[in-house]
Amino acid sequence: MAKKQTETRVVNTPQSKDDSGKTLYFKPGMSIAEVAEATGIKSADIIKKLMGLGVMASQNQSVEQDTIELVMVDFDVTVVDEVVTDVNRYDEFEIIDDPKDLQLRPAVVTIMGHVDHGKTTLLDAIRQTKVVDGEFGGITQHIGAYQVEQNGQKITFLDTPGHAAFTEMRARGASITDIVILVVAADDGVMPQTKEAVDHAKAAGVTIIVAVNKMDKPSANPDRVKTELAEMDLAPEEWGGSTLYVEVSALNRMGIDDLLDTIQLVAELEEYKANPNRLGVGAVVEAKLDKTTGPVATLLVQNGTIRIRDIIVVGNTYGRIRLMKDDQGRSIKEAGPSKPVEIAGISDVPNAGDRFMVFTDEKEARQVAEARAFQVWKEEKTTSQAARLENLFDGMQQGEHHTLPLIIKGDVQGSVEALKGAILQINVPSVTLDIVRSGVGTITETDISLAQASGAIIIGFNVRPTAAVRNLAQEQNIDIRLHNIIYKVIEELEDAMTGMLAPVFVEQITGQAEVRDLFKASKVGTIAGCYVTDGSMISHTQIRLIRDGVVIFTGKMSSLKRFKDDAKEVNRGYECGITLDGFNDIKVGDIIEGFRDVEEEA
Ligand code: GDP
Ligand code: MG
Repeated sequence: MAKKQTETRVVNTPQSKDDSGKTLYFKPGMSIAEVAEATGIKSADIIKKLMGLGVMASQNQSVEQDTIELVMVDFDVTVVDEVVTDVNRYDEFEIIDDPKDLQLRPAVVTIMGHVDHGKTTLLDAIRQTKVVDGEFGGITQHIGAYQVEQNGQKITFLDTPGHAAFTEMRARGASITDIVILVVAADDGVMPQTKEAVDHAKAAGVTIIVAVNKMDKPSANPDRVKTELAEMDLAPEEWGGSTLYVEVSALNRMGIDDLLDTIQLVAELEEYKANPNRLGVGAVVEAKLDKTTGPVATLLVQNGTIRIRDIIVVGNTYGRIRLMKDDQGRSIKEAGPSKPVEIAGISDVPNAGDRFMVFTDEKEARQVAEARAFQVWKEEKTTSQAARLENLFDGMQQGEHHTLPLIIKGDVQGSVEALKGAILQINVPSVTLDIVRSGVGTITETDISLAQASGAIIIGFNVRPTAAVRNLAQEQNIDIRLHNIIYKVIEELEDAMTGMLAPVFVEQITGQAEVRDLFKASKVGTIAGCYVTDGSMISHTQIRLIRDGVVIFTGKMSSLKRFKDDAKEVNRGYECGITLDGFNDIKVGDIIEGFRDVEEEA
């Protein structure tokens, strides 16, 4: 973790106020009266000393810093430059604690490695052998991170295996892991994502512990893993290197204790420390919108302590912590360094990797959050370098794009996995596809901001973004590709990567309407009483019926009515009646989306 070396005082944050009078934070232009007030020394005494140095100055005049320093020596006051740090950018600096305030904290560990090498199985094995379930009977609340205890000491595991989450957080400037467990299957050896994981871990300057997994397999060859990794500067100790290796079988839960002991060993050597006695700061591990609770975020406290009812700025949003739960779903009142917690009470959903900071003043917190949101908005407006599939090949020829980050959202886990599998099979020289996020559900604002941050293209499989999300994407020039056939996705990506993409027709969404009422008519079937929420509904266009962000039906609109009359077009803000051609299973709350294919302007 890169620490700022210059002494920086954070103005406006109460935990850094030093009222002892022993240090003077000097601002250029400070008057003698101000110096007097800041130090508790009488103005007259300062003026007298100045006169002794041959400097004549009155109370309201300012003097050079060098001169003040000389004078202050006599009063036993140290003069420090006051760097007025912009508190809106609190994620860019670190507040330096006095070493005597620091206490040991648990190590924070992330598991990385190639797909199918056993990351998830290993995380489960650790959790199941080590999390003390107590009365919860093994039902552990999933909050994206958990703590285990080994030899009376805690270890925090971030439950987001894979380099995607890690990279995503790093992209947002969060450096939250101390140790990376690099999982390598002993029967498969070092694979492309293993290498990537090593690169990321090295770039982040974190300690790597290699877990050679699947040791139960007859074809396991741990020496091969070591040889391959030694080539990447990760030679084991027995070969003269300094990398720690542990042989495990995540499936049979063998070697788990060894692995945890090794983590403890590293933690002891590295002495990870924090100061629990100040206002909490840390990072978002993951966040989501809960239907009943509202925005919830899993936070990792990195320094200080957060408490229930604390006022907190998280990314660009803020609020007062209303609920706080630990990794097992138990309500807790406070959380210190390295503790993962889930909180509710903030007004919006932050992004993974966003920093958070506790404030004592609600008004200030709101201002900071607003200023940050504005800043982000401004930056996005001016430096939109979002990727677009059409431009990929041009970029490649100019040697620009070598990696195409992708975000994949699908209707069900099965289709997401299948799509990911198929995408990873694509083999075009000189381009790597990097899936920065994949998940079940529709495309959200969070996906758009991740796409913005990572330059990713979003692929939606059988899902439809809301009008608001679509508008946001358009505003930020984010490319969203919507499909419902896997090979079409692959074809499109391959075409784009080989410069063959010829988009002749693009789909234009003409409008969206929300179903608010249903009427059954024996002749025409179900009539959906709708309210047009976006664009306009145009009679006889193609439509999609969307339920909870998932496409239920694609077909044609058979009639569009305004009151009793047929209508050609019904605009946003008006009600209308719609029937669909050959589909009656409409429900209140469904969204009807109208679209047509238009030739794309060059
Ligand atoms: P991930 O993609 O890295 O998260 O890998 P998973 O944890 O999903 O594991 C991929 C496959 O490897 C699954 O079928 C696991 O059951 C299997 N697997 C994981 N660990 C072991 C192990 O120690 N031994 C054996 N034989 N299989 C394992
Ligand atoms: Mg997995």
